[in-house]
Amino acid sequence: MERELTGTIPVRILAAGWLVLALPLAAQDRPRESNRAPAPVSGFAIPLGSERIEFFVEGDPSVKSPLVVSLHRNENTAFPVVREILASEPGRFIGIRTPGERRLNLKGGSRAFSIDPNRLFSLAGIEADLRKFSFFKEEIAREIETFAAEYVKRTGIAPGRVVIAVHNNTDGGYSLESYRKGGAEEAAAAEVHRVEAIDPDDFMLVTHPRHFTALKEAGFNVILQDNAGAPDDGSLSVYCGKRGVDYLNVEAEFGSREEQERMLRAAFALAAGHAPAPAKVPVARPIESGAVPITPRTGRGDPAPSGVPPAPMEGKPVLRPGIRILTPKRKIP
Ligand SMILES: [Zn+2]
Repeated sequence: MERELTGTIPVRILAAGWLVLALPLAAQDRPRESNRAPAPVSGFAIPLGSERIEFFVEGDPSVKSPLVVSLHRNENTAFPVVREILASEPGRFIGIRTPGERRLNLKGGSRAFSIDPNRLFSLAGIEADLRKFSFFKEEIAREIETFAAEYVKRTGIAPGRVVIAVHNNTDGGYSLESYRKGGAEEAAAAEVHRVEAIDPDDFMLVTHPRHFTALKEAGFNVILQDNAGAPDDGSLSVYCGKRGVDYLNVEAEFGSREEQERMLRAAFALAAGHAPAPAKVPVARPIESGAVPITPRTGRGDPAPSGVPPAPMEGKPVLRPGIRILTPKRKIP
């Protein structure tokens, strides 16, 4: 289900800087002044056992980075925004075209198996997922492993390229809070930054400390993955983290359109080497409600100028409430 896009004026302004660069790429057959998705320019299929999984490729297939990937077919609320961004910025978007739900199905003899497409990027992840949600069989696990290797090859996921993954979640379950102390995903997180005014279901998870710092400075809910220590669950985030691939997961609650778009635009900005636009968080909730502005206060108790908190890419982390720094600070003599 796709909704019509509105509010294109700020989009145009943001995109203006890219138009000059993007025009030669976009000149082919992209509909002008239209909110309709550009026709898929290509696609491919990968065998999964005796089945075949078909993928669509949108955007410019010659642009290797950023690569936007969708792995869970039912989590598609980001699609209209990704298409809107790709109408004016370089990038590719690859998702699953074969109809179905979250899991991929395959057959083994008389038995039906299924696998979570975001748990198949390691044999350990495949085995754990099959045992928990399907049925483990060595031969099936190997077929899934072959599928995953082919997926990585066909999509071109590799160091030096930026991968942006889009996911949805439901209210109250898996969230940024899962990565805090005592949470189910605690072991996967090196640092967690929570903006109180933003729903914890809307967050980003990144593998690069510089992306984490930039997103924190710009006022996003963001997690820096512990790339070395994260349990190998076969997810694309852990796969990328272990191989030095810059990966940004944009995780949004179903229906959380505004924050999802802000996160996606920030991901594209970072992929292009720019700092993301600063947060509008201080105005997202009325100040009378008792919300605390996220910008640091000046000495006299006056709020800091609420305009534009700088978001320098090279900026050092600033300690604020809600930030958990796990690495012990060295004392400088
Ligand atoms: Zn997902």
